Amino acid sequence: MTVERVLAPNPGIYTGPGTNTYLVGDGDEVAIIDPGPVIDTHLLAIVEAIGGRAAVAVIATHTHADHAPLSNPLAERLGVPVFGYGPGPEFEPDVRIADGDEVPVGMRHLRAVHTPGHSADHLCFTYADRLLTGDHIMGGSTVIMEDASAYLESLYRVRDLGVARIEPGHGDSMDDAGAVIAGYIEHRLAREQEILDSVGAGAGTVSEIVDVVYSFVPADLRAAATHQVIVQLSKLLAEEKVRFSAGAAGPSTMVELIARQ
Ligand SMILES: [Zn+2]
Repeated sequence: MTVERVLAPNPGIYTGPGTNTYLVGDGDEVAIIDPGPVIDTHLLAIVEAIGGRAAVAVIATHTHADHAPLSNPLAERLGVPVFGYGPGPEFEPDVRIADGDEVPVGMRHLRAVHTPGHSADHLCFTYADRLLTGDHIMGGSTVIMEDASAYLESLYRVRDLGVARIEPGHGDSMDDAGAVIAGYIEHRLAREQEILDSVGAGAGTVSEIVDVVYSFVPADLRAAATHQVIVQLSKLLAEEKVRFSAGAAGPSTMVELIARQ
């Protein structure tokens, strides 16, 4: 069994060193996970890394632009089907897979674990004792969330799989998966508490919460931090821990705590 990484040449503030394309192999078969953006040199690097082995599947963890768009062109070149949760911009799976579905590779199986939160269509994959996490867990940077409740639930799900090693969509592999996932859960709960504490201490708008809770972020990540606060406030709103002023949630939205009886 082999898990190899081919780094796409798309470094950036949200992608770290670039997108990790994985070649997951067993015997002389190999599946490709997250081909990345459409970059000709990266397609050639993937084909070269496959070498003389038989490609059996191209799979995307989710349909974001740094993970999925090369899937269809690569699969066409290799003559294999594309697997994914559903279609997205520049992505059209031949085979739709959902939680628990398996893709055979040699004598083993990649098994899909539906992990919404970063995006609603996000899948992680177990392979032997590994967990390929896409953008659900990343090496060295904070995951941008679409839904904070779903994200936390999905962290509990992957924690309970008991895998040994994490192969993230960005950054380096991580041993001691249990501790890494526990750290992610702790981090999310701590951020949520910091938001509540900041409001309790007088931060009255989204922008003021960002000033307190994300004071360390550089200017080019301010918009992302504001997004994270709004997403986390939406979870707290649903849990009836805070209320917002009327209107769309933005930097000037007013926030107050709902007093506990
Ligand atoms: Zn993503």
